[in-house]
Amino acid sequence: MQIFHTVADLSQYLDSMRATHHIAFVPTMGALHDGHLELVRIAHQQNASKPVLVVCSIFVNPTQFGDPKDLEKYPRTLDSDCAQLRTVGCDAVFAPSVQEVYPADWQTPKFDFGHLVKSMEGASRPGHFAGVGQVVHRLLCIVAPDFLLLGQKDFQQVAVIKHMVYTLLGWKKPKIVVAPIVREPDGLAMSSRNVRLSPTGRAAAAGISQTLFQAQKLAETAETLAEVGEFVRQNYDKLNFDVDYVEVIDRDSLQPAAEWADAPSGAAICVVVRIDGVRLLDNVLLE
Ligand code: AMP
Repeated sequence: MQIFHTVADLSQYLDSMRATHHIAFVPTMGALHDGHLELVRIAHQQNASKPVLVVCSIFVNPTQFGDPKDLEKYPRTLDSDCAQLRTVGCDAVFAPSVQEVYPADWQTPKFDFGHLVKSMEGASRPGHFAGVGQVVHRLLCIVAPDFLLLGQKDFQQVAVIKHMVYTLLGWKKPKIVVAPIVREPDGLAMSSRNVRLSPTGRAAAAGISQTLFQAQKLAETAETLAEVGEFVRQNYDKLNFDVDYVEVIDRDSLQPAAEWADAPSGAAICVVVRIDGVRLLDNVLLE
């Protein structure tokens, strides 16, 4: 596995491989866990006419953090990240400095994500998606991949990036592949932030997904989506959770959905619960 720190070195390497390989790209902020490694595994499984070369970026993007303390506290573990990536056959790691990603002469287009960023993470973290759009656009320009691997864990992020790539930029490539959420044995969605939970908080956090799985069951017979949302809110109340939001939405438009008819592209429920001051995201699809 090769490790690159500069755009020039990575570009030279990728350009020498493009004729013989398809390039799959896994953007991350590091502090890797099995959820990230699954993206690399899925990248390798893409059906392509040439062998797939997987590039993983590790870059803690300052422009998507509203809170400087959160940015500062974000774990940085490059050596162990690289060791983990080797175990799943990652071909190249791109770990650039902030100056490499944002040189003085680089101009990010202004993206208007419209209603997609008015709710959930967009509402709770002003400016977050402007930063996500900025870094993903820049990284896509550098890597120019055929496949882009994203996790369903960040549900709204997937919708925003698809909109940016296919609608706002009008690109035909990369193909965006969405990987299911990888969970701990008790159901908690894996996250780099889970290490910040106290033992009690960690035990309580299992209630986030367990409630969502019950909601999925309830949805199979529920008359309305509103009652599924209400079930989750009430359960979180009983668990004394500090709830940031519980939103039942249409999967593509992200618009709130109270009736099944409000979710023509299928329904999902997205939640954020704060435990020990850590924001924990989760979501499930409702059928
Ligand atoms: P991060 O570095 O944590 O911001 O995430 C990098 C990528 O990994 C994003 O596309 C995330 O959605 C994805 N990801 C993070 N956690 C998980 C998980 N538990 N399961 C699947 N994908 C994940």
